[in-house]
Amino acid sequence: MVASTETLRPRDLDEALALRTRTGATPFFGGTDLMVRHRGYTGTGPKIPGPVLFLDAIEQLQSITVADAAITIGAGVTMTQMLDHPDIPPLLRDAVELVAAPGIRNRASMAGNICNASPAGDTIPPLYVHDADVVLTSLLGSRTVPITEFFTGPGATVLAADEILTAVTVPVLPAGVWYYRKVGTRKANALSKLSAAGYARVDNGTITDFRFSVGAVAPTVIRLGEAERRVLEGARRDAVMEAAAAVIRPIDDQRSTAAYRRTVALNSLGEFLNKLEIT
Ligand SMILES: Cc1cc2nc3c(=O)[nH]c(=O)nc-3n(C[C@H](O)[C@H](O)[C@H](O)COP(=O)(O)OP(=O)(O)OC[C@H]3O[C@@H](n4cnc5c(N)ncnc54)[C@H](O)[C@@H]3O)c2cc1C
Repeated sequence: MVASTETLRPRDLDEALALRTRTGATPFFGGTDLMVRHRGYTGTGPKIPGPVLFLDAIEQLQSITVADAAITIGAGVTMTQMLDHPDIPPLLRDAVELVAAPGIRNRASMAGNICNASPAGDTIPPLYVHDADVVLTSLLGSRTVPITEFFTGPGATVLAADEILTAVTVPVLPAGVWYYRKVGTRKANALSKLSAAGYARVDNGTITDFRFSVGAVAPTVIRLGEAERRVLEGARRDAVMEAAAAVIRPIDDQRSTAAYRRTVALNSLGEFLNKLEIT
């Protein structure tokens, strides 16, 4: 029996999965979302309901593996460690560099950013552009889920009560044109009003791949599928923008207004189209 206030700090993945299955404990890596979400009165500790499963001592989660086609980042890798690694794809690097500030990045993981499931999570738009997968593991084995199918709404995912996100696999994209834009109230320690990521491959003057993703303009991060298709068909800029406008449906909240987010999201797409000289 595990008391609701007990903290669990397994050193091995099997032990962690057994504890997660038996107790339903909340996975905790850096705590930079959890500590804020469950903060108590000034001078008191956070009040996370139920047992807490600390993941920071599990060596199996701490690796970054590079293969020809993809890079796999363990759930126990901090954002600082990602930035220290030479093979992190440039688009993801640009996003991670703008998360919070060094103190937070020394603790925070990309897995936590994903599992927090905020539509404003800064690493998520680049992962959508890369068609990344998340690996979800339980005692029964692992399943691979496309990042675009992981989120079911704000704060909601398909992660089961006995699973832990163990790794993120990011396919390597051929050299191309990259775009990342984060819009916040200041340069550091600012949660995004919105963020956007893009990639285009240009072969002999023809765009052969085009991807664009935006965060904080819908209940989950979105890819602009129809706008992407129109770019590949050689459509004019107006037609591309029209397709984007149809799916960018932000809300007002404490960080920004819907109108501002919509305008800036479309401006971001416009900026990337300018870079590609799409008129
Ligand atoms: C001052 C400040 C500034 C911030 N700035 C930014 C910013 O600029 N951009 C941004 O995107 N975010 C920002 N954040 C939010 C936060 O730092 C990030 O979301 C971070 O990546 C969370 O990672 P973590 O390891 O600390 O997650 P935790 O707080 O440990 O966990 C977050 C969630 O993920 C779950 N979880 C964690 N790891 C796993 C796992 N392996 N398997 C299953 N579930 C798991 C937890 O149960 C929890 O629900 C900021 C936070 C603070 C306090």
